[in-house]
Amino acid sequence: MSGTEKLLYAFGSDQTDGNSSLTHLLGGKGANLAEMSNLGIPVPPGFTISTEVCIEYLQTEEISEPLWKKILTGIRRLETLMDMKFGGGEKPLLLSVRSGARTSMPGMMDTVLNLGMNDQTVQAVAKQTKNARFAYDSYRRFIQMFGNVVLGIQSFHFERKLEEMKASKGVSEDVDLKDDDLFELIAQYKNIVTENFGKSFPDDPEQQLKLAIEAVFKSWNNERAFAYRRIYNIPDEWGTAVNVQCMVFGNMGDDCGTGVAFSRNPSTGEKELYGEVLFNAQGEDVVAGVRTPEKITALNDKMPDCYANFVEISEKLEKHYQDMQDMEFTIQNGMLFMLQTRNAKRTGVSAIRVAVEMVREGLIDKETALMKVDADLLDQLLFPMIDPDQKLDIIAEGLAASPGGAVGKIVFTAAAAEAQAALGEKVILVRQETSPEDIGGMKVSEGILTARGGLTSHAAVVARQMGKCCVAGCSSLDVKEDEQVIEIDGTIFSAGEWISLDGNNGLVISGEKKLKMPDLENNQDYIQFMNWADEVRTLGVRANADTKEDSLAALKFGCEGIGLCRTEHMFFEGDRINYIRAMILANGEEERKKALDYLLPIQKGDFIEIFEIMKDRPVTIRLLDPPLHEFLPKTEKDIAETAQVLVKDVSMVAKSTEDHKEQNPMLGHRGCRLAITFPEISRMQVRAIIEAACHMKKQGVDVLPEIMIPLTSGVKEWEFNHDIAHEVAKEVMEEQKIQVHYLVGTMVEIPRTCLLAEEISKEAEFFSFGTNDLTQLTYGLSRDDAGKFLPEYLEKGLIAHDPFVAIDRDGVGEMVKIGVERGRKSRKNLEVGICGEHGGEPSSVEFCHTIKMDYVSCAPYRAPIARLAAAQATLTHGEYEKLGDHHIVGKQTNLTL
Ligand code: ADP
Ligand code: MG
Ligand code: MG
Repeated sequence: MSGTEKLLYAFGSDQTDGNSSLTHLLGGKGANLAEMSNLGIPVPPGFTISTEVCIEYLQTEEISEPLWKKILTGIRRLETLMDMKFGGGEKPLLLSVRSGARTSMPGMMDTVLNLGMNDQTVQAVAKQTKNARFAYDSYRRFIQMFGNVVLGIQSFHFERKLEEMKASKGVSEDVDLKDDDLFELIAQYKNIVTENFGKSFPDDPEQQLKLAIEAVFKSWNNERAFAYRRIYNIPDEWGTAVNVQCMVFGNMGDDCGTGVAFSRNPSTGEKELYGEVLFNAQGEDVVAGVRTPEKITALNDKMPDCYANFVEISEKLEKHYQDMQDMEFTIQNGMLFMLQTRNAKRTGVSAIRVAVEMVREGLIDKETALMKVDADLLDQLLFPMIDPDQKLDIIAEGLAASPGGAVGKIVFTAAAAEAQAALGEKVILVRQETSPEDIGGMKVSEGILTARGGLTSHAAVVARQMGKCCVAGCSSLDVKEDEQVIEIDGTIFSAGEWISLDGNNGLVISGEKKLKMPDLENNQDYIQFMNWADEVRTLGVRANADTKEDSLAALKFGCEGIGLCRTEHMFFEGDRINYIRAMILANGEEERKKALDYLLPIQKGDFIEIFEIMKDRPVTIRLLDPPLHEFLPKTEKDIAETAQVLVKDVSMVAKSTEDHKEQNPMLGHRGCRLAITFPEISRMQVRAIIEAACHMKKQGVDVLPEIMIPLTSGVKEWEFNHDIAHEVAKEVMEEQKIQVHYLVGTMVEIPRTCLLAEEISKEAEFFSFGTNDLTQLTYGLSRDDAGKFLPEYLEKGLIAHDPFVAIDRDGVGEMVKIGVERGRKSRKNLEVGICGEHGGEPSSVEFCHTIKMDYVSCAPYRAPIARLAAAQATLTHGEYEKLGDHHIVGKQTNLTL
C-alpha cells in the first residue's frame, strides 16, 4: 500500500465517507452501513477499516503507527458525537468490533461487543444508566466474547459457569439472574481468562481495541473461514474489513430488544416482514440460537410505533436496493437502530416469487428480475418433497427453516455424516445447533435437524443457501451426542435409524418416507418467470432423453427438442439383449443379419414412440456408441445361460467374451469404429430411424431426425459412416415412396475432430460437442479416476472448478471454439450444440452463448436452469444471429412449464 489510500471510512451522524459501491474496500457490512446512513436511516456511528489494511496486516502482522493514529482520531470523533469517553469518564463509550468481507460469510467471522468495559467503566455504566444488572450483563458478555474471539478461549468454559450459576440459583433463563449473580460471574469469567490465557484480562480499552481489530484481521485466515472460501470459491486475496461502531443496547430493559428480519419471506417469497425479535437481549443471542426468539409480529404488539418505523425502513431499503433485504436491528429504550442490511439469501421458490412480484409492483423490470435469480436455485423447485399421500408418524415439530423433503439415517456429528456419505449412505445430520465447522458434514447430508436456534440460526441460513431441507429449533428434541441418541418425549431414536424431514412444514417424521416432486404445473409465478426467460434467450435448450418418459419430461421442462437420444439402453430391454448378443457372437454376416432383422422393427418402434411425443421438434439420435463387451455376459453363469439361449458352445461364448475385453475400453473399439467393422449395425439403426420418420410423415407429422455418428476422429472415417447413413436413408425413402427431412452429423468429442472440423463439416450438417469425453481427452483426465485426486487440486487452489462440472474455458472451451469456427468455415449454417452434462450448468451455458452455439442439451430436469442461464447470458452478452438449420427457441406447448 502506498500510504495515499484511505485507510478509514467514517459512517453515521455527521460524516459518511463510503457507500454501497465500495464493497471491495469496506466489505458488504461496512458498505451497507454507509449506504443506510446516506439514506438517513438510523445507524449507530462508527468507521470502517478497509480490506486493503487487512491484507497488509496479514503480511506485516502489526498495526502501523499512522494507522493507529487514524483509529484513535476515529474514536475521538465518536466520543464527540456521543458525548462519551472511551475507557473512562462518567459516560464510558462502548464499541462493537465487527468483521465484514466482500460477500457475506455467515458465522465465519467473529464480532466483539461491549468493548471498552473494565472494572472502572462497568461501574460508571451502571451509575449512568441506573441499571447495574445491564452493566454487569454487558461486561460478562464482553469477557466471554473477547476471551473467545481474541484470546482463543473456548466458549464452553464460560457457558458452563453460566449454567452452573443458573442451576445454583434455580432459574432457567439468563435474564432471571440477579445483579449479584452477574457480578459474581464476572469474577469467575476473569479467572477463566487467567487460567486459560496465562495472563489477566486486558483492562486497558485501547489495548482491547487493538487486539480485537487484529483478531478480526486474523480471523480471515481461520480454518472455518478458509473452508467456507473453498466451498464457495471466494479468493483468499479479498480480506475482510473491520467495522468499529458505537454500541446500542437491546439488553437495557423491556423496552429494548434485538432481532433479524427479512423484508419478504425467504422461504416462500410472500410479501410480509418476516423474522424474529428477542426482547431485553443482545444481538448475538438471536444469531447463536441461545434463546428461542418470538415472531417479529410480537414487536407490533409491544411497540407498534417502532414496528411501523421498521416496516417503513424495510420498504425504503427494498426500493433502494431493488431486492429483498435481510436486516439486523436493535431497539434501545424504544429507539430503533439498524445494524446491518444485505440482499437476502433465499430459496428457489422465494427467489422466483419475489422476482415476479417485484416486476408486478413496478420495482424492477423483467430483465432485472431474470438477472436476480441464481439459475442454480431452480434446482430446488424441481426437488422432491415428502409425499403427503402416505401415513406420516410425526414425532416432533420444529421450524420450517429450509424447504423440501429429506430422508436419511440419523448421524450426530459432521464427521460421521461425511464418513457415512462417503460410503453411499443417506444421512440426516442431527445437532443441538450447528456451527461453521459443521459445514462439510452439512453439505453431504440429505437434511439438517437442530434442537435449538431460529429461522436465522446458522443451520437455517446455511441450509437455505445449500438448497437443503432443514428443520430447526425443534425444542422437544433432546440430542444426546455422547450416547448417540435423541430422546423425544421419552422415545429414543438412535444413530443409524431412518427419519424423514419435511422442511416445508417443519416436521420430523419417523421412518423412511416417500418423496415426490412439487407441483410446478400450478405455480403461476414460475411459469411466468420461465416465459420471460424464453422470450429473452438466444440459445436453444434441448434435452438428453432416451425414452418416452424422458421425452415427456423434456417437453414438460420446456425443451425445444432432444439433443441426445442414446440408443444402447434400447438393447437391454426384455429379450432384446439376446438378439444383440446373437449379433455380436454371430458366425458370419448371414447370422448377424438375422439378429439385426429381428431388432429392426423393435428399434423402429422405439423411435416412433419418441417422435410421437416430440412431433416436429428436432431429435438427435446417436448411433450405437459403447464397446460391444458391455452387452456380453459377465459371469460364468451368464455365459452358460447365453450359450444355451443362443444354442452355442459355452467355450465359444466364453472365448468370444474374453476376446472382446479391452485394456482401455474408453479409447477402444467403440463409437463409429464399431460401424467400420460391423456396418450392418449402423444400417439397421438408420433404417429404423428413417422408416419411423416415413411412418410419421404418412400420419401427417413432419419429424426432424438428426442422425448422429459418435466418436468421429478422421475425415475418411467420417465419409465412410456418412455415406452409409445417406445410402440407407435414400433406399428407405425410395421403398416408402416418400421424402422425409433428416440431417446427418457427428458428435465432436475428440480433439482431432475439432482440428479437422473444416473438412468434416463439408458433409456434416451438425456438430454436437460431447464435452464429457472431450474434457477427458483434451485434459488427459479420466472422469472415473479424477474423483480421487481432483479435490486436492481444488483445495490447493490449483484449479477453480471441477472441469467435469463447469466447462474448462481455457482448454476444453478453446478446443470447442476451434471446432465451431473451423466447422462454420465450410458450412455457414452448420448446426452446433453441446450434449455433455455441462449443458445444464450455468457458467458453461454462458460459454456456449458466447461462442454462438444453436443450443445446449442437458438432462430434462436441468432444462429450466439452462433456459434461465441462457436468458442471463443474452442479457449480459447480447443476442446473435442464429445460423443452424433447426434453430428453435422457446417453442411452446401447453405441457411446457
Ligand atoms: P455477523 O456477521 O456474524 O452477523 P455482526 O457483526 O453483524 O456479525 O454482529 C453480531 C451481532 O452483534 C449481531 O446480532 C449484531 O446485531 C450485533 N451488533 C453488532 N454491532 C452492534 C452494535 N454496534 N450495537 C449493538 N449490537 C451490535
Ligand atoms: Mg450480522
Ligand atoms: Mg462420448
